[in-house]
Amino acid sequence: MQDVKRIVILGSTGSIGRQTLEVVEAHSNTLKVIGLGAGSNYQLLEQQVRRFCPSFAALADAEAARIAASHLQDETVQVLSGLQGITDLVDLPNVDLVVNALSGFAGLEPTIKAIRRGIPVAIANKEPLVVAGHLIMEESRRWNSPILPIDSEPSAIFQCLRDEKRFLRKLIITASGGPFRGWTQDQLSTVTPELALRHPNWSMGQKITVDSASLMNKGLEVIEAHWLFNVDYSQIEVVIHPQSIVHSLIEFIDGSILAHLGQPDMRVPIQYALSYPERWGSPWPRLSLVEAGQLTFHAPDLTNFPCLELALLAGKKGGSMPTVLSGADEEAVDLFLKEKIGFMDIPRLIEGALASHHRIDNPDLATLQAVDHWARCWVREHI
Ligand code: NDP
Ligand code: MG
Repeated sequence: MQDVKRIVILGSTGSIGRQTLEVVEAHSNTLKVIGLGAGSNYQLLEQQVRRFCPSFAALADAEAARIAASHLQDETVQVLSGLQGITDLVDLPNVDLVVNALSGFAGLEPTIKAIRRGIPVAIANKEPLVVAGHLIMEESRRWNSPILPIDSEPSAIFQCLRDEKRFLRKLIITASGGPFRGWTQDQLSTVTPELALRHPNWSMGQKITVDSASLMNKGLEVIEAHWLFNVDYSQIEVVIHPQSIVHSLIEFIDGSILAHLGQPDMRVPIQYALSYPERWGSPWPRLSLVEAGQLTFHAPDLTNFPCLELALLAGKKGGSMPTVLSGADEEAVDLFLKEKIGFMDIPRLIEGALASHHRIDNPDLATLQAVDHWARCWVREHI
């Protein structure tokens, strides 16, 4: 009989959060939800509270938190409010694992807090690793709090690498190429939010779906992998693989390559992060290699998809540059979704913000917050 794992899920109303709750439902004897946190979707949070009975819930939006608290008076749950409320969930007694499924920079503070409390963090939220990988990994070592990747590519690498890091030659990160693979600059400049939100293989939150269409998502994942696996940028290659069956690969010094294959289904890497170091059976659809048929690979188009190159440059420059990249991207994607700018304005604005910023070495949390704020303002002022 396995011990029960007591988990807190931050971002429970989002794509990853909802799928995490599906994993909890499939393993309800082993996983117990004690805290749920989200942004403003009080209707869904209320349903989740009634279904999973956590002792605490939190909504970052104060008005939404007030409504949820009044609707949930018949439940024993205590509803917290604001980003502080989200961060306080990490302070609950006897938390065995925090799942960070928040989107964007907002996930940074709760991540650091969980690590400093010695709690393992299963992390989907890539932006904190992009902006503060140096702090997160240093604190993770210091407090002995493992960081378990949920994102399918780092999860694939994590599963292949095991304890053979010393033999690693390079990481090969796969990318679907998004809905606009093969498009020219002229075609890309006509892209609407509606088109960008139709990802061929994955159903995800809006920000990551737009990032996947621009290839920024892959750039963020290269930076994420650099920090998670302590690998130099020269040892990370990106390969386009339209079928999204091979989730990433690693090459060893002897020329052997290990790949991780599976259906494009986030519940698999989510479950692995929750079951680690064990593996559990699962009810999700299996991969049939015969049905998958052809698996193809080719080089990314850096000319028409400049976001990938911008991310690689920012990652290599390091310091505060990835924070500028990430903050400018969050702001530009938001403006694109509101139809205030075009699709190709996203890389243009990010490039401008990066060029206008004086790199700060080894930034602390307060500096990162200030730089993120500056990058967002810079983008808004230059549309
Ligand atoms: P969604 O947009 O679907 O969900 C985001 C979640 O975070 C929601 O619960 C939302 O709450 C909450 N949230 C957003 N902003 C705040 C805030 N300021 N304070 C508190 N809560 C907030 O995103 P995804 O689930 O798609 O992605 C989550 C993270 O995982 C991202 O960093 C993404 O890059 C990464 N990821 C996602 C994958 C996927 O398949 N979806 C795959 C790999 C990585 P509410 O809706 O209530 O406002
Ligand atoms: Mg990914």
